[in-house]
Parts: sequence; structure tokens; C-alpha cells
Amino acid sequence: MYAFAAPFQHPAGSPIRELFKYLGEPGMISFAGGYPASDLFDVTGLEAATTRAYQTPARCLQYGPTDGLPELKRELIALMSRRGARCTSDELLVTTGSQQGLDLLLRVLVSPGEVVLTEQPAYPATLQALRLGQAEVMTIPVDSEGLDVKKLAALLESGAVRQPKLLYTVPTFANPSGATLSLARRIALLELAVRFGLLIIEDDPYSDLRFAGDVVPSMLALSDEVPGSRDWIVHFASLSKIAAPGLRVGWMIAPPEVARRCIIAKQTVDLCSSPWTQAIAAEYLADGALERHLPRITGIYGSKCDALCDALHAEFGDAIAFHRPQGGMFVWARMGALSSSTLLAHAIDNKVVFVPGKAFFADNVDDATLRLSFAAPSPDAIRDGVRRLKHAYERALRARRAAPAKSS
Ligand code: PMP
Repeated sequence: MYAFAAPFQHPAGSPIRELFKYLGEPGMISFAGGYPASDLFDVTGLEAATTRAYQTPARCLQYGPTDGLPELKRELIALMSRRGARCTSDELLVTTGSQQGLDLLLRVLVSPGEVVLTEQPAYPATLQALRLGQAEVMTIPVDSEGLDVKKLAALLESGAVRQPKLLYTVPTFANPSGATLSLARRIALLELAVRFGLLIIEDDPYSDLRFAGDVVPSMLALSDEVPGSRDWIVHFASLSKIAAPGLRVGWMIAPPEVARRCIIAKQTVDLCSSPWTQAIAAEYLADGALERHLPRITGIYGSKCDALCDALHAEFGDAIAFHRPQGGMFVWARMGALSSSTLLAHAIDNKVVFVPGKAFFADNVDDATLRLSFAAPSPDAIRDGVRRLKHAYERALRARRAAPAKSS
């Protein structure tokens, strides 16, 4: 009846949000969402920041500048400097979650039919945004050290791909792979960016959630070491995973020419991100509350990650393959014997959910993969959840063995 625009004629919704209907079921253990643990929110610190922000009601209640409240921008520049990366105010744009940054950037840079490269497996909301933007998506595989930069180099050198507009990657504690791009690969990727004029999108919501291993500088920080590469980096960051997603405070750092156009795009999207939550975020950061909060949550996420990895080893042994992440929220696993979509149906009956791997593929789906998030459940619930998963796995294998016998 309605003449919808091409990308909305047969749109697919988020495959992860599809699973949300099961989460409300009593007794369900969820490894599905990429949500931070609700019981780890810094309720008192954020309440105090809210009170301080509201001492100047007009700055909370009025419209604000499209690129963000100046006091928040100052705090974010200071936060980036603690993370080892410099940036100026005209490079930084506050966004309504980092998700908005990606949307703005695609509006500004990518026309329908243009080639965009992304790591695979990839964050599904990025794949969805690329689909809606009608980009031609090409994928580069990820292994335990992150994006396979050699394969990217070979692809670019072969000339088999039309000039890609950009490459999307989550180099640190990736969603979903949990992998962290090694230092050597980061440098090689920056060199490729300069050589081929390839814009690298570094999506970095998780790097502060490190609970093991040594810090690896962001691509943005490392761009100071590779001449010319600063022009080829756009960096997204967010308070969602480290403070609270309800703030909807993210930010992007981009070359000024790009940032300026993203600000113009944002004017038609939401005029400005909520000045109220920006003021809260500014107060929270100015007080040093984030620095006090991070060690607490990373310690707990570390023990949850151990609980999950140890339980998977104990219950599944060689039947499962995965790498233990050094931070973030996700374990990416592969069960050679079974499709994870089949496993999910049995898992839901056993009151445990996860995200089947196919949600993270743009092509060449590996249906034996799955993403398990350890952030939200308690360590005891995690161990219980893995036991349920094992029962589901055994039932799924039995059902498969029984099926051909019935039909013969
Ligand atoms: N990028 C990645 C890799 C994510 O996992 C998420 C959240 N799941 C986002 C971006 C979006 O975060 P935000 O809440 O800042 O929009």
C-alpha cells in the first residue's frame, strides 16, 4: 500500500533484539545481550552527578550545541588523553550513543552501491546500517589476533575490489569475536590505510574493560607513529559499556572535514544529543567517578569471564573451541558438531539463551559459531547456564541421531 524507500521495502530487524522476547521468561539465563550488568551500575555516583548537573537547570533543559556541550567535550578530550590519544575540539562530536556516529558517518561518506569493508564476524547493527545504506559489503576474516590484515592487504593489492569507502573494525575486545588486534597488525593496518587511502573506522566501546594482559594503544593513538595515517582514522567511543547505556552518550573523533559534515548530518537527525544526560556525563567525568568505577567493574567482569571459560572447558572439553578474551563482554565459540541455530532451540527449552553466530556474518555464514556474553549473569548463573547448555547440546545431538532413523 505504501511506496517505501528501497531499503525499507523488506527490512530485516535486529537478530539480537529478536531474542529479547525470551529474556523475560522466568528463570531464563541469558548469555545473549551485550548489556552491562545492571547490578554494577554506579547508581550513587551517577545520582550525585545528576544532582550537580541540575544545579544549573537551564543547561539541562535547553537545546544544546549540535557537536556537544563544551564542558562534556573538554572532559572527553581529557579522557582520550588518559587513553593515550590526543584530539582537538573540532575533531570531536558528541553523539547519541556511538551507534549514531556510525549512522552519521555512513550518511556523509557512502552512496548506494559503494564498497565498504568490514571485519567478519561483525557487530550486527553495523551490518544492518550498511544494508540500509545500500552499501556493497565485503568482508575480511578475524582470527585470534583480530582482523586478518594480510588478507586485507592481499585484497587491496589484487585490485579485485573497487576503491572501498571505508573499513569497519572493533580492534579491542571485539563484538562478537572478543579478539584484540595485535600491535603489529595495528601498525600494518595504518600503513595500508595511508597506502590505499582507506578510511579506517575504529569502533572502541570496550577498551576500558580490560581485565587481563597489557594495554594495546588504540589505532587513533598509534596514528601518531605512522606518518599520514591520522587523516585516515575515524574513532568511535561510548560511555554505554563503562558507565551506562541509558545516558546515550557516545562520541566520534574524525578529521575536521569529516566531523563538520557529520555535524550537519546530525542537525537533521536530532539537533543535539540530550544536554541533560551530557551534563550528567560531564559532572561524572569531572569528579573522577569513572576512574574509581572502572577497576571495580573490570575485576568483576574478569571473574565472570573466567567462570564462563572454565565452565565451557569443563562441560564441553574438545567439543567447543574458543579463545579466552582479555576484556570486554564476549566469548566467541565454535561447536563443530552442531549448528548453533539448532542448539538455540534446545537451549531455550532448557532456559538458557545465546546469540547464534549467523547474526554476525554478511556472507559465508559459519553456522557452528555462537556468541556468549558473560557480562550480565552472576558467576553462579554462568556455571548453571553452561550446564544447561550442555544438556541442550546432548539433546540436540540425540534428536539429530533419532531423526534419520524415523524417516527410514
Ligand atoms: N559498537 C559496538 C561494537 C557495540 O557493541 C555497541 C553496543 N552493543 C555499539 C557500538 C553501540 O553502543 P552505543 O550504546 O554507544 O550506541
